[in-house]
Amino acid sequence: DTIGGNLDRTAARFPERDALIEHTTGRRWSYREFVADVDALALGLLGAGITKGDRVGIWSPNRAEWTLVQYATARIGAILVNINPSYRVHELEYVLDQAGIRMLVSARAFKTSDYVSMVEQVRAKCAALERVVFLDGDEWDALFDRDGDPARLAAIELSADDPINIQYTSGTTGFPKGATLSHHNILNNGFFVGELCRYTEADRVCIPVPFYHCFGMVMGNLACTSRGAAMVIPSEGFDPRTALAAVAEERCTSLYGVPTMFIAELDHPEFADFDLSSLRTGIMAGSPCPVEVMKQVIDRMGMAEVAICYGMTETSPVSTQTRADDSLERRVSTVGRVGPHLEVKIVDPATGLTVPRGEPGELCTRGYSVMLGYWEQADKTAEVIDAARWMHTGDLAVMDADDYVGITGRIKDMVIRGGENIYPREIEEFLYTHPDILDAQVVGVPDARYGEELMAWVRLREGAAELTVEALREFCTGKLAHYKIPRYVHVVEEFPMTVTGKVRKVEMREEAKRLLG
Ligand code: ATP
Ligand code: MG
Repeated sequence: DTIGGNLDRTAARFPERDALIEHTTGRRWSYREFVADVDALALGLLGAGITKGDRVGIWSPNRAEWTLVQYATARIGAILVNINPSYRVHELEYVLDQAGIRMLVSARAFKTSDYVSMVEQVRAKCAALERVVFLDGDEWDALFDRDGDPARLAAIELSADDPINIQYTSGTTGFPKGATLSHHNILNNGFFVGELCRYTEADRVCIPVPFYHCFGMVMGNLACTSRGAAMVIPSEGFDPRTALAAVAEERCTSLYGVPTMFIAELDHPEFADFDLSSLRTGIMAGSPCPVEVMKQVIDRMGMAEVAICYGMTETSPVSTQTRADDSLERRVSTVGRVGPHLEVKIVDPATGLTVPRGEPGELCTRGYSVMLGYWEQADKTAEVIDAARWMHTGDLAVMDADDYVGITGRIKDMVIRGGENIYPREIEEFLYTHPDILDAQVVGVPDARYGEELMAWVRLREGAAELTVEALREFCTGKLAHYKIPRYVHVVEEFPMTVTGKVRKVEMREEAKRLLG
């Protein structure tokens, strides 16, 4: 099915149900109104000369317009290119060029960023870019063609396997790559995420995670529209109080977030003032979740069925998910089991053979969710998708006897010291137990004798005394195998991070090399 066809079916079944709600502005659309606006925008895009296969960029924080553009482009087979709201001029220029964007829909500003001036700076340099439409203005309003002939939309020949979306990866391990995704890829992923969350038309999903990322636009929007549930946008950027208020006032049944968002909500001084009794489920994803946070999400927020998901941009994104009836232990120590109609296997990266249960290896995924490829980077695609269509994720994982998958780190972060494979995550977990250590990251640094040595980067708690390498090694002695004890320690205020909140170990390795000179 196509995204447009699926939306029409939902709207025909639930025309008067809420489709989209913008909490801060109070704007709302029923499914009937939503489809009417999507169609008017789709006709307007056609009128502006956008046709199937053209790239349309969207650069905006979460607002209703983002969602309208998402569905209007899909309706006509144009390829939506999600642009990260935190980008700056040179990143914007890279995306506009790399994806060959013909039309850009852009907000005017977000937080302290002036998008208008950044767009003006790069506009002339991007050859393919013909038109920029800023939100909140006559030009945007004029883009809705409400008198157009709907037969023009029906006449467009669409296939579920057409590319429909380019999403850039977070850039944790290098330069972001544009994953090209089809209707089939993301519509099915949203549908099955919704199925495992048991969504129906009675659900109302609060989405504080960004739409530019698949967490928002697939696990949020597409999961809702494929089942008739309501998409609730609490605010443009994340704000814990607004998210809580949106849940309470819109009677949301589901709430999304990365673990740090849930922590901020639980810690909010006004937490007790909000009636969250409507919450039943939600999704926590993106990075590992501490047990204590999970417990509180269940006990204090009432999200008894909250799920953990694992995935990546290249796989639309979700590959594994915990189920509503999984134990608390499973929902914190694993990322669940493989999703419906997907396959996962864990292989020895050296031999390509599947490893026994319980042993670490590279996680590979196959099935409907695997992207078409990286946009105009066939060489990079061939590095990750093999001839049998297995996506090699670059993540290290173990699978237990009951099919539950645990993520243990990234292959690129694995350190080989004197022939021993070392998984930094294990050492990091141990370092967290040091009373003065707030956060720890371990990276490999080149070493003449052992090939690689370990360097621990640590952030210390406030008021902690200086931490010497001798003291740290002493702390580890007898508790970690000798080869896992870091040789160097580097104390910092902050780790280098990506805009999606992930630690950039590539940068830390480069810096470590410089430090050791
Ligand atoms: P790049 O590919 O550009 O280096 P990235 O891999 O961080 O960046 P994304 O596609 O946004 O970009 O993130 C996918 C990655 O996030 C996965 O490969 C995995 O390493 C990590 N991840 C996702 N979900 C989880 C989870 N539940 N637990 C642990 N890690 C996760
Ligand atoms: Mg990646």
